[in-house]
Amino acid sequence: MRLIVVSNRLPIRLVREDRGWTSQPASGGLVTALSPVLRNRGGIWIGWPGVAGDFDEGEILGPASREAGHRLHPVRLSEVELKSFYHGFTNQIIWPLFHDLFTRCNFSSDFWRTYLKINARFADAIIQHHQPDDYVWVQDYHLMQVGHLLRRRGHGRYRTGFFLHIPFPPPDVFVKLPWRSQILRGLLDYDLVGFQTIRDRRNFVHCLRHLVREAKVQGRGPVISVRYGDRMLRLGCFPIGIGFDEFSEVAKRPETAERVAALREAHGTSQLMLSVDRLDYTKGIPERLEGFRRALARYPSLHEKITLIQQVVPSRDSVPEYQRLQTDIETLIAKINGQFTRPGWIPVHYLYRSMPREELVAHYRAADIGLITPLKDGMNLVAKEFCACDVDRSGALILSEFAGAAIQLRTGALLVNPYDYEGVAEAIRRAFLMPPEERRMRMHKLRTSVRKTDIAWWADSFMEAAFARTLHDFPHDERDLTEDFPRQHQHAAAGRRDPSGRRAGAGA
Ligand code: UDP
Repeated sequence: MRLIVVSNRLPIRLVREDRGWTSQPASGGLVTALSPVLRNRGGIWIGWPGVAGDFDEGEILGPASREAGHRLHPVRLSEVELKSFYHGFTNQIIWPLFHDLFTRCNFSSDFWRTYLKINARFADAIIQHHQPDDYVWVQDYHLMQVGHLLRRRGHGRYRTGFFLHIPFPPPDVFVKLPWRSQILRGLLDYDLVGFQTIRDRRNFVHCLRHLVREAKVQGRGPVISVRYGDRMLRLGCFPIGIGFDEFSEVAKRPETAERVAALREAHGTSQLMLSVDRLDYTKGIPERLEGFRRALARYPSLHEKITLIQQVVPSRDSVPEYQRLQTDIETLIAKINGQFTRPGWIPVHYLYRSMPREELVAHYRAADIGLITPLKDGMNLVAKEFCACDVDRSGALILSEFAGAAIQLRTGALLVNPYDYEGVAEAIRRAFLMPPEERRMRMHKLRTSVRKTDIAWWADSFMEAAFARTLHDFPHDERDLTEDFPRQHQHAAAGRRDPSGRRAGAGA
């Protein structure tokens, strides 16, 4: 069996030089997970190469395909299409809606028409390259209609799977989408639809009950089935993982230890707290800064003892909404630093740039506390990477209960509601005071979970669910996947009852 991976972007980064284009392999979990599968099984990757308009396919993709060890096939998009498809339908409708922020949506029907047109172009590319026995694995919200368009073009015999990397919203949010039925029914045209968490799949099933009543859901567990017309399809939960061993290996290198020592010396405070986010309103950066400001206002004992390193990776920064977000973040940081800075201590150390992998790993390892508080996130890989890099198990993780990762990491992390600024402030203090034995015990649990469900596990689980003859053949341990919503966390309640914080350092 050959695999056809289809995603919005091909796994390469193109750079225009004087002599023409050069390409570099893109980094990131998906490439790490799928490139070896494609190399070993044979297969192709279909996607947009990252440049609009005309280009010489052989010139760009020939060397990149040779380097990747599997063929790359481009889908071309013009500047105008890109604006309406990527900057329009996906960024102004699906992204905010699926993160529960429907007031940010711009429901333009032009965007929808372009979305269908571009999805049809991807379907055509699949048809052009498909061979009997291929399995087509479509990635993410940019391409939800591809399975449906393949079927409509008479290619219902193709075996297809789809994985949604972002959350799926609850029915009261999803019903706002003018094309809600088309999107839902379109997803039912795949043979397997994968979600990050049981919560996302439950939302999807609830939407089906409201909007596609003839779809009959059956079974329990990580993979369930749906009867839809004369077909059966499967719905599964496959929380995406990271390359645990790779992160851990870089974290253990002597050069990393040197970088860590240099970072710690440069900052000088007793504890470093780290936040790493792409510039995006779903990441909850202003809310987190407010939580940190309240921690400093409420607990003077933290002054000069804790520094927040806030890295923001530039993203979509030509969009006015993102520019405003950047300004808000920078204003808040200036406000906190203006209020609390003392000679030799600046509370927030701000980086607005991306870092090479080695530098990022050194930051993860240098941090005593990971502060990761998105308002909503499909998974949040930063949380998992922080754990993988904490090779000496000395860190504490504060994690938003609205990150997909919270479901797997709930027993080791301090879970917070990112909208509850006082709760975030208390969790910061609690993490700061957490004794080394408790940190070790919690980090051990976190690392065990992240290692067990790494990126290779994710790809294997999806493929096993696609090919298991019956769902009894699907072998995975359900425990990590089927817990539903993080339970009320202890520390918030404990902190509320005792504002002096005396109980805050107590055991879990
Ligand atoms: N990352 C990066 N360069 C940086 C900071 C972060 O490549 O300077 C990576 C990080 O290693 C992680 C990804 O960006 O794999 C962020 O993934 P996450 O799931 O946390 O959020 P997303 O940006 O996909 O919403």
